[in-house]
Amino acid sequence: MIVSAGARLLEGAPIASEIRAGVAADVAAFVAAHGRPPGLAVVVCGRDAPSMVYLERILKACAAAGIDGRLREIPDGSSEEQELALVAALGELNEDPSVAGIIVQMPLPKGIRLRPVVDAIDPAKDIDGIHPLNAGLLRLGWDGFVPATSHAAMEMLHRSGVEIRGAEAVVVGRSPVVGMPAAFMLTREDATVTVCHSRTRDLPSHLRRADIVVVAAGRPGLVTGEMLKPGAVVIDVGINVVDGRIVGDVDFESARQVAGAITPVPGGVGPLTNALLLAHLVRAAQKQAAAAAGATTSAGVTPAVSTAAATTPATTTPATT
Ligand code: NDP
Repeated sequence: MIVSAGARLLEGAPIASEIRAGVAADVAAFVAAHGRPPGLAVVVCGRDAPSMVYLERILKACAAAGIDGRLREIPDGSSEEQELALVAALGELNEDPSVAGIIVQMPLPKGIRLRPVVDAIDPAKDIDGIHPLNAGLLRLGWDGFVPATSHAAMEMLHRSGVEIRGAEAVVVGRSPVVGMPAAFMLTREDATVTVCHSRTRDLPSHLRRADIVVVAAGRPGLVTGEMLKPGAVVIDVGINVVDGRIVGDVDFESARQVAGAITPVPGGVGPLTNALLLAHLVRAAQKQAAAAAGATTSAGVTPAVSTAAATTPATTTPATT
């Protein structure tokens, strides 16, 4: 039964600007302490990919926050040559102390294998949480870098005052970069979580009992109002281009009539993702600087950044600011 007169709109921009202000202050403090800005390397294989728009937005946000954002382009070549060059570039960036964080353009071009590429990123610089070590730390409920998009979905729930503990949550999508990390984070915060995917037999039956719905399927309009429990909180992570317009995975017009709160697309999770990625970068830079200073004091030399520095176990909150 449809009872809601219209859902509360969960907008990302105001939260993102608060996070960005915090990042800019942290960057200024970092520069004052170390005499240089923290560096972010964005590694791309070809500038034509649609994700280039997203990456250029990140570089612009870096400039605005005082972060040294750099584009590292892998030259054209066969997939084998590009994969080797990509892994070699990641090795160089891992060794470069002025680079605190690394992100790699995804999806990788056809023919380049994901595994050798993610393995080649230093987990301490893996600010988007794609390295197996960080994925494992999240699975164990320990502190590490988490994917910024899943973190953004959680941050939206936190900042909107949504009760997660004990809630029935349904995550639609089980990708390693969005759906599964969101499911692990919700579980860690005591929600009872169901993960749905393309083989789920009856998606509406799961959605109808959910207090919290996170949708990351890449299917425009997949979730409609009639599938939702009245009053549910709906976080739409999807970004799809339909007839030249950006839309989410949720049919916004029908869903807003039933939901208690809902993120718009665009303007919901997206802006938060970028801001949180920069927050992760600052955290990486601070940890690496602290590790280097500690090592210098104790041994009189500055060693390479230690992986453990960015992945301290046994805390209950995801990597944030
Ligand atoms: P993937 O394609 O990797 O994963 C999609 C998931 O959705 C899969 O698990 C798939 O199931 C599931 N799925 C597909 N169709 C259905 C269906 N009909 N019913 C139920 N589940 C379905 O996508 P990503 O996880 O990378 O991205 C998901 C969405 O989030 C995309 O729209 C993407 O653009 C967006 N995105 C947004 C970001 C942001 O900042 N807001 C950042 C990153 C992504 P199966 O596993 O069975 O194939």
